[in-house]
Amino acid sequence: MGPKANVTLDAGARSFSTGLLPELIAALRGCRPGDLLAVIGGEASIGADIDAWCRFTRNALIETTVEAGRTRWVIRCGEAPQSSDTERPVGSRLWLYTNFDCNLRCDYCCVRSSPKAPRRALGLERVRRIAREAAGLGVGEIFVTGGEPFLLADIGEILAACAAAAPTTVLTNGMLLTGRRAEALRSLPTDRVTLQISLDSATPERHDRHRGKGTWVRAWKGIERARAEGFRVRLAATVSTDEEAEEFRRFLDAQQIEEENRVIRRIALRGFATDGVALARADLMPEVTITAEGVYWHPVGAEDADMLVTPDIFPLAEAFAAVRRAFDRESEHRRRLATIFNCA
Ligand code: SF4
Repeated sequence: MGPKANVTLDAGARSFSTGLLPELIAALRGCRPGDLLAVIGGEASIGADIDAWCRFTRNALIETTVEAGRTRWVIRCGEAPQSSDTERPVGSRLWLYTNFDCNLRCDYCCVRSSPKAPRRALGLERVRRIAREAAGLGVGEIFVTGGEPFLLADIGEILAACAAAAPTTVLTNGMLLTGRRAEALRSLPTDRVTLQISLDSATPERHDRHRGKGTWVRAWKGIERARAEGFRVRLAATVSTDEEAEEFRRFLDAQQIEEENRVIRRIALRGFATDGVALARADLMPEVTITAEGVYWHPVGAEDADMLVTPDIFPLAEAFAAVRRAFDRESEHRRRLATIFNCA
């Protein structure tokens, strides 16, 4: 079953035309912004009504699952917290999930990575083709993520191919930057490759609680190694509250980390997370994200069916066009709602 709901409404056999709507409104009145309301029903066709109603009312339908012949729709009450992300043209940033396996199993991992997760590798040849085609499509920055990309024996070649096409950032837990991985790193151009290393807190306690004992210390060593090799290092924290974010900011200030080398984001209620910010596709500006399974709307939830735009990666220009078309449809939907609610 999906995320835990604050309120559950059993729709029975009712639909919007037979009494469900007033109950839904009453249930939502008892919710606070960000709360989750689950509606469980046997009538799958009410899903389209719930989706349209959510869009009208600026709530968000974040998940639909079917179990034992009954459907469960999870609605987030109210809009998503404002993101500090600036709006970028679709396709200016390109995300590649090189693999889904990881040496860690963080309890909030948004794509369910772990040592046991199947690798589902994009593969060097596919990455090379993506990089070649991306160079002609105006991609300004490539992000390589996973899983843990440094588990791959050919991560050096993968990053070199990406860096030849655009400045490249690799997201890593920083724990594997030794031995042959350190060799691979050394072969890369330091002016084209940035390492974004996860560090969730100023001291080991909270980081290790989410990621495993001893992981903070090993991540910190990774940060020092990457810096010693001359790479730009961006520190990325995943936090649960504003207080945790503020505490980490103070740590970054003390460490004299520049603004452009800081990423602080909230846990997203996707993947393994049982708590966090519930995000629907409509909440997120699209950032073209490629995995072995296809092209996704955004790196958060890049294995969830609601984020899949197309299974076809090539030609890359067509994949970009598919994301733009999906974005246009989403924008058109919003524009039509705005017109319907135009009061003057
Ligand atoms: S959050 Fe990152 S380091 Fe943790 S399991 Fe997921 S991919 Fe691995």
